[in-house]
Amino acid sequence: MIQKIGILTSGGDSPGMNNAIRAVVRAGLRYGLEVYGIYDGYRGLVEGNIVKMDRKSVSDIVNRGGTILRTARLREFKEPEVRMKGIEQLKKYGIEALVVIGGDGSYMGAKKLTEMGINCIGLPGTIDNDIASTDYTIGFDTCLNTICDCVDKIRDTTESHSRCSIIEVMGNHCGDLALYSGLAEGAEMIITPDHPIPEEEIMKTLRTMREKDENKRAIVLVSEKLFPDLKAFAERVGRETGFDTRYDVLGHVQRGGAPSAFDRILAARMGAYAVDCLLDGKGGLCIGLVNNKIVSYDIYEALALPRDKHVSMLRLIDILNG
Ligand code: ATP
Repeated sequence: MIQKIGILTSGGDSPGMNNAIRAVVRAGLRYGLEVYGIYDGYRGLVEGNIVKMDRKSVSDIVNRGGTILRTARLREFKEPEVRMKGIEQLKKYGIEALVVIGGDGSYMGAKKLTEMGINCIGLPGTIDNDIASTDYTIGFDTCLNTICDCVDKIRDTTESHSRCSIIEVMGNHCGDLALYSGLAEGAEMIITPDHPIPEEEIMKTLRTMREKDENKRAIVLVSEKLFPDLKAFAERVGRETGFDTRYDVLGHVQRGGAPSAFDRILAARMGAYAVDCLLDGKGGLCIGLVNNKIVSYDIYEALALPRDKHVSMLRLIDILNG
């Protein structure tokens, strides 16, 4: 049976990563394992930035956003020789298996390491909810709540001036943050990569809305990267619809803050499950929450799954707003 495991966080940070670290460390110690924290993702692995952890190492982090192990990206990790350097570092410490918390890129690194003899389990740590093998990723719920908090505030001033506010949220090619926050906020329009709307149609819809009611205000939620020049887009809306229009890019505020209770619990469940998998001698898997059950998938299979485009949610939004 294995005796020493490592843990790292990789890719973009997300609230709840610390709760996953805590769960892996505490569950590992409970089962008699030695647990090592690897700083700065795969870069720290290759450079040997590795520290033994104890119960106290993860005290008082349940309510902290970000990741105490810091995170990084190392493009060169795709090369087998670079991964071999990481494996040599692990061998120095006798670390036999790893938990990797990150997004789909980090999953690939974990799978490739497993194929080279180090069993790895991936946990979905990303605000974007762009991993098909889980209903929710760790950090999505917190980020969604942060967005709702911000939009609530923007709504007050939008409403007072009968304006149109165009609000850009994160998502990295995945529309879930815009869609879910759009439903939660009763947004007049939601524009995502899965559900794009031609600009002409956006103008026409907003123009009609404004013509019907001159005191109407409109909240338009858009996913990042869809309108590279958001200012120009907002100016066009202002020119062509009759709405006094403003735009906001919520930006990095979306990544931070104390994790929600949902994310804390999700991370705890997934972290403990990952340790169980490693103790069973499994590797190359990623953990998901499906129908409120913690499950595991082969990483390649997980990455090939189609993402849910939430068509029924879009229909609901249409019913509620129509
Ligand atoms: P996020 O969703 O927050 O962007 P991510 O895990 O998808 O997180 P990436 O930058 O895509 O973020 O990947 C993180 C790291 O995983 C990369 O910097 C690299 O070290 C490693 N990685 C990515 N793709 C591969 C691959 N094909 N093989 C080996 N390692 C990889």
